[in-house]
Amino acid sequence: METRRHYDVVVVGGGPAGATAAADLAARGRSVLLLDRAGRIKPCGGAIPPRLVRDYAIPEEIICARINCARIVAPSAKHVDMHIDGGYVAMVDREVFDEFLRERAEAAGAERQTGRFLRISRDAGAHAIVHFRSGSEAGGDIVDDCVSARLVIGADGANSLVARQEIAGGDRMPCVFAYHEIVRSPDASDITFDPRRCDVHYDGRYSPDFYSWVFPHGKTASIGTGTYHKGFGLRESVAAFRKRTGLDQLETIRREGAPIPLKPLKRWDNGRDVIVTGDAAGVVAPASGEGIYYAMASATRVAEAVEETLRTGQVRALATARKRFMKSHGRVFLILGIMQWFWYRNDRLRERFVSICADKDVQRLTWESYMNKELVRQSPVAHVRIFFKDLGHLLGLART
Ligand SMILES: Cc1cc2nc3c(=O)[nH]c(=O)nc-3n(C[C@H](O)[C@H](O)[C@H](O)COP(=O)(O)OP(=O)(O)OC[C@H]3O[C@@H](n4cnc5c(N)ncnc54)[C@H](O)[C@@H]3O)c2cc1C
Repeated sequence: METRRHYDVVVVGGGPAGATAAADLAARGRSVLLLDRAGRIKPCGGAIPPRLVRDYAIPEEIICARINCARIVAPSAKHVDMHIDGGYVAMVDREVFDEFLRERAEAAGAERQTGRFLRISRDAGAHAIVHFRSGSEAGGDIVDDCVSARLVIGADGANSLVARQEIAGGDRMPCVFAYHEIVRSPDASDITFDPRRCDVHYDGRYSPDFYSWVFPHGKTASIGTGTYHKGFGLRESVAAFRKRTGLDQLETIRREGAPIPLKPLKRWDNGRDVIVTGDAAGVVAPASGEGIYYAMASATRVAEAVEETLRTGQVRALATARKRFMKSHGRVFLILGIMQWFWYRNDRLRERFVSICADKDVQRLTWESYMNKELVRQSPVAHVRIFFKDLGHLLGLART
């Protein structure tokens, strides 16, 4: 006698991508199971743009700090303060933010299941069978269980098991390894720290190919660094970085790390019954490592494609998710990828890169693009000016 629970969609992973996809599909009346591991807080700087706050109706109380300036620091310790006119960067604590999104999915009608995804198999009826284990992380008895679904969404983050098992290239995603320490924020009187400013350091001593950061979160702050180099001592680097920034005496609350994938997979679906989104699909912006907005934006596209497939029975529709996402964000990813490849190579280039950030046109276009997630088109003259200034810097004609 068949007693297995059946759903239109099983979403594996309840981070920003999975919770968004589950909420969207449940709101369309689909039966959705949201399967998420118990108890882990995602290691993350928690910086999100106003576009995300707007598009996904994030309430005020979820935002723990509003940032109005980014301090960009060069290896020589020269810095540029990039003030945001008429906007902000919102900071969220992932423990609170992710749970808010999961509860919203549940309120929309998704069923929540705590458990660790194991694998997908197929039954004679051609349904996907999602196997998972519950109990172990939550401290209860270990129970292996499974449910069936017409479609499965893999939103289980970097190192996605779903992508590795089901999607071409999912087992070979290039990643930056990131590590950060959550510390108790210092008093407002501390001159090295401003609760409304994010500090971004481009300095080969602390990251040979990415950057290091201090991101305030109200009562706490994230201090971290990232690199592609597997052998690089991330903990030692953050210890040295904290010393250099005068933040080494602060109480450390948590130490944690995770990979950040920096290249979208060429295919997000398996042409049959599985599609991936968010970090599982590799959609994090190069150069900045910004992934929360892109995880949610990709999940919206994936939910649309899944809905179309369920409605029409055409699995081809799954491929439209990646196409639509890349149409909106592919150019930004390309530009940021080139930027990272060029400017993050050595301290001489990092020094020049920071000096470019002093340019008011660069600052305005950077903030407008970040906040609204659209390349600014209204100001062609500024683009031309920036192009020639960049050229000057590349050829060493401009002063640094
Ligand atoms: C140190 C660090 C700092 C960062 N800072 C920023 C930042 O400031 N701003 C920004 O925009 N981005 C930042 N990012 C990137 C951002 O955190 C990710 O891009 C974003 O979390 C991706 O969301 P997601 O839903 O795709 O994956 P995740 O947030 O990783 O969610 C995946 C979910 O799947 C669950 N899961 C995993 N495996 C299984 C399994 N086998 N079974 C069941 N569930 C499973 C996890 O528990 C989790 O809930 C940072 C990343 C790191 C590592």
